[in-house]
Amino acid sequence: MECARVYTAVARFNHWSRAAAWSAGVCEATVQNYVEGAWRPSSATETLPVVNPATGEELERVPLSPAADVDHAAQAAARAYPAWRRVPVTDRVQYLFKLKALLEEHFEDLARTITMEAGKTLTESRGEMRRAIENVEVAAAAPILIQGYNSEDIAAGIDEIMIRQPLGVCAVIAPFNFPGMIPFWFFPYAIAAGNTSIIKPSERVPLTMEKVFALLDSLRLPPGVMNLVNGGREAVDAILDHPLIRAVSFVGSSATALHVYSRAAAHGKRVQCQGGAKNPVVILPDADVASATDIVADSAFGCAGQRCLASSFAITVGEASRPFADAMQARARARVTGYGLDDGVQMGPVITPESRARVEQLIDKAAREGATVTVDGRHPDVKYKKGNFVAPTILEDLPLTSDVAATEIFGPVLSIHRVDDIDAAINVVNSGRYGNQASLFTSSGASARKFRYEAEVGNVGINVGVAAPMAFFPFSGARESFFGDLHGQGRDAFEFFTQQKVVVERWPKAWSRKF
Ligand code: NAD
Repeated sequence: MECARVYTAVARFNHWSRAAAWSAGVCEATVQNYVEGAWRPSSATETLPVVNPATGEELERVPLSPAADVDHAAQAAARAYPAWRRVPVTDRVQYLFKLKALLEEHFEDLARTITMEAGKTLTESRGEMRRAIENVEVAAAAPILIQGYNSEDIAAGIDEIMIRQPLGVCAVIAPFNFPGMIPFWFFPYAIAAGNTSIIKPSERVPLTMEKVFALLDSLRLPPGVMNLVNGGREAVDAILDHPLIRAVSFVGSSATALHVYSRAAAHGKRVQCQGGAKNPVVILPDADVASATDIVADSAFGCAGQRCLASSFAITVGEASRPFADAMQARARARVTGYGLDDGVQMGPVITPESRARVEQLIDKAAREGATVTVDGRHPDVKYKKGNFVAPTILEDLPLTSDVAATEIFGPVLSIHRVDDIDAAINVVNSGRYGNQASLFTSSGASARKFRYEAEVGNVGINVGVAAPMAFFPFSGARESFFGDLHGQGRDAFEFFTQQKVVVERWPKAWSRKF
């Protein structure tokens, strides 16, 4: 679909007419920012195309907002904060109940938007939006989850209480691979706790948040409570340096996570940064190979391997090796790659032509490092010739010490390795840079407990390939997969988005007025 770049007032002010505009081949030229309760053009001089990764069609353009746009949003959020924090929490969560209803109402359109801009299948996009909504539901429990605690009579007639108060302006910096879900790990909790928020989506996938903000706009939140700034590095660095922004939540690659963590901390901010991953999966000889391969295939190839919890590294133990590798080859060959909006498609493209080239180069490099490419997904025959398709790929005999074995590929590529026992497997799990997720497939409770106990990762799967924490659990991470201490989602999110204040009180009778 060719975007005709026609600005219409209807498309600007009525978000759902945008969907109609899209289907009519008509859309706005450039995504706008949303600041202080209104859509505002960025002052950017540079824009980038937002491209459907399956078809190669340009959907819209995204501005690379400069620091001045971040400043406007931060000032607006700071102005809104004093009044918003005084809105009773029971009233603040009413906006979340309404948001949940709107997200349900527009669920299919949001899922289609994710598929169009990020390339995943419609089923995967629906799963993503379901988890986004679940976070709104959990954040609506704010009246309970922001409670503090107290002790009476810590000394004679003296009481001590801990209360949680909001921080102020909080910013979210998101990656490309979950344009609908990841901002929801943070902002519903931030605003429920009485903070105001700025979202900076990935410049590769700004359209889903544009639609979410159209819904937020219709909630009539006080202006400045929720703000959207589109852009790339300059906008990120402006967030990290801005004196009015008190907390930063980041999800993306480890290199950027470390940059964000260090620079924001250097400015005295509270920071939580999720980074990259390898997500090893261990197959013991007592595992049910048929179900393990089904589950691992979905983990490795689902979302074209661009899930932060995608298994990209299988460690088979002893005699599990050959049956698992043979079954995985069959699963990889059978997976249907194509455009996520088309029926029957099980896997979409990777995000950009550069990502496709990078994944292909890493497969080349793995072969040079000694791997056998037993299923080769390079240059698949897909009818969309401008799409960034790489089909499922399997590498065997890749040395554990090779560069590719240590590199996050972020594409549909699974390397399969062999070790002799579970101890060796756990050693491999614990020896990499990343500690996002590790999974074990077994029928032994004792092995499962050992693995859960010893694996140095934030999320563990036992006979589960994508151990994605529900919204009422923290999305954890270890080593270079996470910098910080408090995570997104659930109770952790309320801890992150509030500061504790401790009050020690004495009210001697003599000071009290007698009635
Ligand atoms: P990325 O690091 O390239 O970008 C993330 C965000 O940082 C974007 O908003 C981008 O604009 C900004 N950014 C990029 N480079 C920057 C720089 N040099 N300075 C300042 N800002 C910069 O990540 P991505 O490619 O969008 O996302 C994929 C990565 O995210 C993968 O590594 C994946 O594992 C990781 N991820 C991790 C989790 C998790 O929970 N651990 C979840 C999702 C994605």
